[in-house]
Amino acid sequence: MRRSQLFVKTRYQEPADETSKGAQLLIRAGFIHKEMAGVYSYLPFGKQVLANIASVIREEMNKIGGQEVDMSILQNKELWEASDRWDDTKVDNWFKSKLVNGTEVGLGFSHEEPIVNMLRGFTSSHKDFPIYIYQIQTKFRNELRARSGVMRGREFLMKDLYSFSRNQKEHDDFYEKVTQAYMKIYNRLGLGDITYKTFASGGVFSKYSHEFQTLSHVGEDTIYLSKAKKLAINKEVYSDEVLQHLGLKKEDLVDEKAVEVGNIFSLGTKYSDALKLFYTDDNGQRQSIIMGCYGIGVSRLMGLLAEHFADDKGLVWPANVAPFDVYLARLGDSSQVVKEAGELYKRLTQAGTLVLYDDRDASAGEKFADADLIGLPYRLVVSDKTIENKMYELKKRSSAKPEQLNAESLIKALAKPKQS
Ligand code: ATP
Ligand code: MG
Repeated sequence: MRRSQLFVKTRYQEPADETSKGAQLLIRAGFIHKEMAGVYSYLPFGKQVLANIASVIREEMNKIGGQEVDMSILQNKELWEASDRWDDTKVDNWFKSKLVNGTEVGLGFSHEEPIVNMLRGFTSSHKDFPIYIYQIQTKFRNELRARSGVMRGREFLMKDLYSFSRNQKEHDDFYEKVTQAYMKIYNRLGLGDITYKTFASGGVFSKYSHEFQTLSHVGEDTIYLSKAKKLAINKEVYSDEVLQHLGLKKEDLVDEKAVEVGNIFSLGTKYSDALKLFYTDDNGQRQSIIMGCYGIGVSRLMGLLAEHFADDKGLVWPANVAPFDVYLARLGDSSQVVKEAGELYKRLTQAGTLVLYDDRDASAGEKFADADLIGLPYRLVVSDKTIENKMYELKKRSSAKPEQLNAESLIKALAKPKQS
């Protein structure tokens, strides 16, 4: 992509209405646009970052047997009445609206009810199960307070997976598989070292659930963690009983602020029974389906990555999340520089490297500041000087010292390693 053709511009003024550093950087670097409190639009760079995070999640969900769908956002009131979750006293963050004929509809904040209802039309026998369905979709929640930019939105991107198992063992095995898949996802996003499986409240069935909490000073949650055991307890459920259950000792734990980046629940048969999703076993007997639901905050992760991978000059994206691989800065406008930079842009693009080509008539200072603010993994310079030396200047965003490379080694250095 050529900078000169991009409608988005960076800005150096800090937005006054954002308190978190991550949100300020995302706005200044042109990744997101604030529509109103808790509501953001994603601009080309931001949309690509979300897509990159989503594709890591998608790969890991597919590996454990997930089937991707996209359920409707408009919700049928009757389905939610069947499980007693339509009432505003039961769910306090519904956005609701009315059709022209007066029929009430909701905007999906989660999808247990419609997904169970949909599945009922396709399944009957024990041979149809287990089933794992997920989506990566915008959710709507009328949050009391929107905070920390995209980390708590009223409209946000979530991955939600639902499991449908025939018995407790089948459910427990899959629950464990999801736990492992989640840790792989956080590892691949560079957050593995600071993300803890956390004992938390909120299970419908078991009274408890598990959250995945990433340590951060902007976190809204407090967790008590054991670094050695890589386990934590949310303050909400911290008690002698829970300590004992987990085999943890008070004195081995430290308390830290953390951000909930994922949450997994055992739902038992609450929603499947309420919406009459059953299966018949070998003997022709009707049996209940055991459900689990498994969420990850995709846009929240983007906000957290921006908060975590940053320095005083701007964002420092991990390579597999960055919207482009390299920021190509053309310095000067001599015909030779224009020609050489244009050719390099083409060659790198043909080799599969994603290049943001700064072909604007702007100063070196401006281009370098933008490269740092936007935070792509590499900055590449073409100038009269580099042409004279027959070398290109390549610098990692995370290091201060540039390297001099010839064309061949440059193309090689920027070739993408295969993702696992
Ligand atoms: P929280 O306690 O932060 O409100 P939650 O328990 O309501 O989260 P879930 O309903 O389990 O969250 O949603 C799954 C995931 O979606 C959460 O773990 C979180 O990462 C993300 N998420 C939840 N609410 C928001 C929001 N308002 N904005 C952005 N991401 C969110
Ligand atoms: Mg919530």
